[in-house]
Amino acid sequence: MKLIASPHCTHCQSQMLDTTMHMFWEFSLIRDFWTRIMLILSELLGATVLPDPCLCLLNDDLALSFNLNQCRLLMAGLTAAKNTILTKWFYSRSLFDSVLDGVLSQYNISRVYNSMTQ
Ligand SMILES: [Zn+2]
Repeated sequence: MKLIASPHCTHCQSQMLDTTMHMFWEFSLIRDFWTRIMLILSELLGATVLPDPCLCLLNDDLALSFNLNQCRLLMAGLTAAKNTILTKWFYSRSLFDSVLDGVLSQYNISRVYNSMTQ
């Protein structure tokens, strides 16, 4: 860790404060990323899920009525997306290269975990 000269984001020209909310939600490329992720998840789930910070960042799915497998897939996708942002958010072209691998990985972990606990 080191001290930085400015509190503003160095990844865009927005002059926004470089906060966790900016990194995970407000940054324009990340907003586009979430929109595309939610389109993919909507198609996989067979139901529309909108890019909402409560759902995407906090996993608040109370407004949704999905079955267990849909919930597993949604949470796997959201977790993979956040992991991708955390590790690669500043390499915008590689975001989609790794997110599907992350979705499958998280989904498989969820399936194995649930099979062990049932
Ligand atoms: Zn920025």
